[in-house]
This record gives sequence, C-alpha cells and structure tokens, in this order.
Amino acid sequence: MADDKFSFTQEVERRRTFAIISHPDAGKTTLTEKFLLYGGAIRSAGSVKSRRSQKHAVSDWMEIEKQRGISVTSSVMQFEYDDFCINILDTPGHQDFSEDTYRTLMAADSAVMVIDCSKGVEDQTKKLFQVCKLRGIPIFTFINKMDRMGRDPFDLLEDIEKVLDIKSCPMNWPIGSGKDFKGVYNRYDNQIELFMDGNHGQSIAKAVKGQLGDEKFNPLIGHDLHEQLLGEIELLDIAGDHFDQKEVLKGNLTPVFFGSALTNFGVEPFLQSFLDMTPPPLARLSNQGNIDPKSENFTGFIFKIQANMNPAHRDRIAFLRICSGQFDKGMTVNHVQKGKKVKLAQPQQFVAQDRVVVDSAYPGDIIGIHDPGIFNIGDTLCKDASKIEYAGIPQFAPEHFARISTVNSLKRKQFLKGVTQLAEEGAIQVYRRPNMGVEELIIGVVGVLQFEVLEYRLKHEYGVELSMQQLPYRYLRWIEQDSYDVTKLALPMDTVLVENKHQQPVLLFQNEWSIKHILDRNEGIVLKEHS
Ligand code: GDP
Repeated sequence: MADDKFSFTQEVERRRTFAIISHPDAGKTTLTEKFLLYGGAIRSAGSVKSRRSQKHAVSDWMEIEKQRGISVTSSVMQFEYDDFCINILDTPGHQDFSEDTYRTLMAADSAVMVIDCSKGVEDQTKKLFQVCKLRGIPIFTFINKMDRMGRDPFDLLEDIEKVLDIKSCPMNWPIGSGKDFKGVYNRYDNQIELFMDGNHGQSIAKAVKGQLGDEKFNPLIGHDLHEQLLGEIELLDIAGDHFDQKEVLKGNLTPVFFGSALTNFGVEPFLQSFLDMTPPPLARLSNQGNIDPKSENFTGFIFKIQANMNPAHRDRIAFLRICSGQFDKGMTVNHVQKGKKVKLAQPQQFVAQDRVVVDSAYPGDIIGIHDPGIFNIGDTLCKDASKIEYAGIPQFAPEHFARISTVNSLKRKQFLKGVTQLAEEGAIQVYRRPNMGVEELIIGVVGVLQFEVLEYRLKHEYGVELSMQQLPYRYLRWIEQDSYDVTKLALPMDTVLVENKHQQPVLLFQNEWSIKHILDRNEGIVLKEHS
C-alpha cells in the first residue's frame, strides 16, 4: 500500500515477507488470523472453523474453486503492525499440497514453522522445512497449542534438532501447560508475561509483565509452578544453544517460541520478536550478481500462475514478487525472457481478506498481474533494459503419477490445451513414453489432490472427460544431460523411462531400492532430484 508517510527506503525497510509452514491442523490458519487481529486488520477472530474431516476436503476445494477469489486472497495477505508492513504467504499444507506450495517459499524472505506441542515435527512440516533449508532462509518456530497437554518442552526442542537437523534456541519458555498454561518467560529480558483470557481468543489477550522473581507473580503462578520454572530456566542455560542472530539469518539456528494461537497467549510477544529478528527484503541473486532491493530499477519474478480465477472472465493471474525498485500502476516493464514490453495495467494486491487494485508497491510485496498467456513460472520483469534474470525456480520432483487420456477422442485438442495450461501453471508435470502418442500422457504431481483438481478443471473449464489410471511410481529422477547414453540403460522391471517437456530423459521408480539398482548397474549415470 502506498503511504506518503514513508520514503522509498523506509518502505523497503519496514517490509517483512514470510511464509507460514506447518503440517495440517497445527494451527497455521489460526495463527495467521491472530496476526491479523493484532495488526488491526480484522476486529474479531473466530472465522477458523473446527477441522473438517478429510473426506470433505475435496468438495471444499471445489466450493473454493467456485469462489476462486477466496482461495487467492488467502494465499497472500498484507497487513500492518507497528509500522511494519507484513506480507504473509500461505503454503497450503492440506491435501492440496502441490508444487505451488514449494514455489511460494521461493518468494518468502523467512518462514514461520508452526508445530503442535502434542505432535512435534510432522511429515509435511519436514518437507516444507527442507525447501526453506535449501534456500537458506531464516526459520522461526512457534510451538502451538500450549493450552492443551502436550509433550515436554525439552523433548520438543530435541525433536526439532534431531528430525530437522537444525540448532534451536528457545526465546521464551512456557509457564505451565494445558489448563495451567499461564504465560511465558522471555529469556532475553528476564521478563515474565502472564496472559488473561481474551474472550476465548476472539480479542487481544491482556498481559501482566514483570521481572522474574517479582513477588506479585506468586499468587498468580503458584509456588510449585514458580519453582518448576526456576529449575527449567537453569537447565535451559546449560542445555540450549545460544542465540546468535547471524546463525538465525543463515537458517542454521531456529529461535523457538511457545504459545497458544487459539487463546492468543504468547502470540503478540512472538510477533514482536519475530518482526525484530526477521530481515527486510535483502539483495537477491540474478545473472548480474546481487540486486539491491533499494536500487531504482524495478524488478520482480513470477512464482505462481493461476488461471480461470473468475470463470466468467477466464482470467489468468501471475503472482509477482517485487525484488527491487518501486512499482507504479500502469507502468511498462520488460519481460526479460520473452524480450517484450508489457504494461501492468490492473495490478492487484491482497490486503487482509480483500483484493484491491494497487497504485504502488515495494520490494517484498506480492502483486497479482493479469496474464494474457505470456508469463511462465520463474520469468523476470524489469523496468530498465538491463535484462536482469533471477535464478530460476527449481522444479520439485512429483511423488504421484497417473496415466491419462480423454474418454472422447474428438476432444483431443481440448484435452491437450487443458493439460498444457495446467502444466504451465505448474499444477502438474507432463511426461510421455518415448514411443507413446499424445493421446496418452503420464502426469506427475506433488500432492494427490492435484489429480482431482486436474479432473475437475478439465471437465469444467475445457469440457473434457478424463480417463485416469494411477501408477505405482513414487520417485522421479532426472538423468543429467549427457551423463549417460539412455539407449544403453539397464532398467529393473518396475522402473520406467519417460521424457519431460524438454525431451529430457526421466526415470520413474517405485522404490528407493530401484534407484540404487540403477546407480549400481549403470556406471557414470548421474541422477538428480531437482531440475
Ligand atoms: P491449520 O490446518 O494448520 O491451518 O490449522 P487450523 O488453524 O485450522 O487449526 C486446526 C485446529 O486446531 C482448529 O480446530 C483450531 O481451532 C485448533 N487450534 C489452533 N490453534 C490452537 C491452539 O493454540 N490451541 C488449541 N487447543 N487448539 C488450537
């Protein structure tokens, strides 16, 4: 949002762009909502309904599809808190887990990892964490649901360190847990912060603050809990890793906070510390070296494309992460990869829960631009003629595969058009057997819901009825160019050789054993997980 109150430099420095990652149900949506509550973007919390059953998730998705606006507004959100301008990127963790989820992390400068205190680190958190690690962005941990009985906090720290292989530093420590969760002890200023009920989490929780050892806390905490806290604090000083901002910024050390998103206990202290520690937009690597976000030249890259957001208009929106310079509505920019000029006429931004047309935007912001079919994931837009290109967005290996064809062969053209569109959006990857015609394709997806998305969208947007047969493959590896003559490959029975859209050879495996088998039997072959 443009605001004359701030200079361009201040606009950049006050931006914080981060993704929230978690396993389904850990409380990501609730925490996001509470951030909006504390930022004043919503007046009362409580729109997060209790978790729906898995069975319903698919039809929910279709409902969401009918009102695409909603699913989009929830994927990027901007709000203000304490002069910070915050962009939250949602990474769907539910069944709609897809490549989009991974790519979104390419647009974030840091990540907040939400962990359920009764579960510890779960599968999807692990996967998303690995992508953050790949990028080397800072990761902040919020251990949620402390109002419920959970695992021992020391255990949880160990879990994070062991499962994720990252050092951790507790920034605060819970005082009690379950029904007795009363507040947190902030280690950096030795302050105790006790929370009062914020109307079951609907409004901001009031807090009483004071130094550790202050007698006023005795009746509030109780003698036993106080003693326990003092003992645990002593242990922490010996056990935990020391805080080191440099290590945090490199993604080697995660600061850990305890709280309850539902009751709001610990949410604001977390938000405040997190905003202080997490960096504003930093220089980003391009083919011309690091680009300073404060440089005058406007640049950005596309990390997500979504088509037919409004079925009445058949529109296509490309999501652009601004990396440097100021964006102004209606500006003409160079599409570096296509070598063309493009006017960005109706840029949209996603403020709290609404979509608005934006006049100005700054590095760190995400804007949605109309795409007449000219953008691809990873494309760079650039104001001047410098032809800056940002490092490409890696392609993540699909884990589920199916063979598809159209039921009605007269619809072949539509079938190909729809499949191509979804592949361009990055929702699916398309492969073919070297000797197979285009009537039958193999598609790969990161999350199984994408199969249903494909079926649904081909039917509703392209009038094509699909025949689909899921295949037993689980692993994909690219054969590094020129590393091997594929005609000489000795393949085990359960492995298949296909070609991707660039006619590169790709292998699909059913298990890790077969990958090892290929490596053992075909000397010199180089298999890659990321393209
Ligand atoms: P997401 O799937 O990670 O987005 O999780 P949600 O935010 O939808 O939360 C999943 C469920 O956990 C919902 O029923 C929430 O009300 C509940 N929940 C979220 N945070 C807390 C918390 O701090 N304490 C408790 N007891 N429940 C919570």
